[in-house]
Amino acid sequence: MNERTYQVRTYGCQMNVHDSERLAGLLEDAGYQQASADSTADVVVLNTCAVRENADNKLYGNLGHLASVKAKTPGMQIAVGGCLAQKDRSEIVRRAPWVDVVFGTHNVASLPVLLERARVEQEAQVEIAEALEVFPSNLPSKRESPYAAWVAVSVGCNNTCTFCIVPALRGRERDRRPGDVLAEVEALVAEGVVEVTLLGQNVNAYGVEFGDRFAFGKLLRAVGAVDGLERVRFTSPHPRDFTDDVIAAMAETQAVMPQLHMPLQSGSDRVLRAMRRSYRQERYLGIVEKVRAALPEAAITTDIIVGFPGETEADFEQTLHVVREARFASAFTFQYSKRPGTPAADMDDQVPPEVVKERYQRLTALVEDIAWQENQRLVGHDVEVLVAEGEGRKDGQTRRWSGRARDNRLVHFAVPDDTAEAQVPRPGDMVTVGVTYAAPHHLVADSARQGGTFEVRRTRAGDAYERLSGTAPSTPGVLIGMPTVGVPPASEGSGGAGVSCAVSTEVAPVHR
Ligand code: SF4
Repeated sequence: MNERTYQVRTYGCQMNVHDSERLAGLLEDAGYQQASADSTADVVVLNTCAVRENADNKLYGNLGHLASVKAKTPGMQIAVGGCLAQKDRSEIVRRAPWVDVVFGTHNVASLPVLLERARVEQEAQVEIAEALEVFPSNLPSKRESPYAAWVAVSVGCNNTCTFCIVPALRGRERDRRPGDVLAEVEALVAEGVVEVTLLGQNVNAYGVEFGDRFAFGKLLRAVGAVDGLERVRFTSPHPRDFTDDVIAAMAETQAVMPQLHMPLQSGSDRVLRAMRRSYRQERYLGIVEKVRAALPEAAITTDIIVGFPGETEADFEQTLHVVREARFASAFTFQYSKRPGTPAADMDDQVPPEVVKERYQRLTALVEDIAWQENQRLVGHDVEVLVAEGEGRKDGQTRRWSGRARDNRLVHFAVPDDTAEAQVPRPGDMVTVGVTYAAPHHLVADSARQGGTFEVRRTRAGDAYERLSGTAPSTPGVLIGMPTVGVPPASEGSGGAGVSCAVSTEVAPVHR
């Protein structure tokens, strides 16, 4: 145990959250300890995002602040990883010479060695790999949650959306063998996990590397059949690759949740063409219709970019039209911002910022209005909630707990005041409650205070939460042997054991 402490700060998408769990796992395996929230860590790792222009400003702003902290903290080291490191490489140490290590998206595992080398040689270490060295899922991980887990099924992307820099930084799609994914899920369930989210930049293109167009549907069924696993989600699918077998797998596999996050980006065929998104409005709405027919209770969410170069008022109207037709439960909405190095950044007809802003306001107002109407339809219904930690900022004041319903809606629910200690739900447990109020972005279920439904089902996940949030030391990550990337042996490809993008969804920077 080298007694040095670490902190990992995560920017960007779920794939970065997944990678940060590996970075923390690698450092703990190397003997580092997680720094407490109020202390200055010996090692600060910034796991960066490059999706939008201001990502650069954010990185160099943070590095500027860290320079003064480092000056006051002998032996402190700063490491920069993730997509911006993969893009900027030695430029980072040129602009911020107090940085000790720069590593990329393909060589996450190198971090501990590079830190040691920088310390011994008193020289910054910049090491960027051009292709994936080790599938991140194979690395030890320190997961955020004992009851829910991210499971990567692929990394990289074969698409070339003109606004996106991900393929340039994460490379072409590499698929994990179905057997490796299943082994990881089984190991996680054995640890108490009840919910997994299958992750890929383009999750439903899974299998493209080993030539099986229907691999993702098969994987959903196989993962859903793992004993003890209650909830399966996936993110993000691409509408072009969304095949009927996936909808059938969602409808016919009990553990696959009635929830779909499918980026639209624009409702205009002309803009979709300029984005090189290789589907059009009709196909998108067709998928929504089929999903609704197979899973009437499904919550569908999306990503939308406003103000893409050349977008006219008529194009924007098409986006509003799709929002009205699709009736999204919520949407991540973005004002287009140039990303240097992408084709769209050099396109003519960049839309003036004030026009983008005005359209953005109209779009978010419509999305919010429809989301609220959709939530109001659930008032009076019972919902099963996976109790979560840290999902209810006001829970302390409102004396409510929070968690996610099967359709991933956020639910704040009351617990009867006279509930015995042993009956108080823990993160990881399941509760069934009645919805009594709907807000645009969440549901309130005070049925327990109104003599209505309140059932607690204590789960192995709740036990795991209690065990791990107690004194039990953090266990090293799930080691399941060396997964290989590429074509699996025949048995798996053909229904053996095997038998998501646009991860442009920005998560608030998470200090880990
Ligand atoms: S937006 Fe998504 S699908 Fe398109 S290139 Fe980027 S990661 Fe791939």
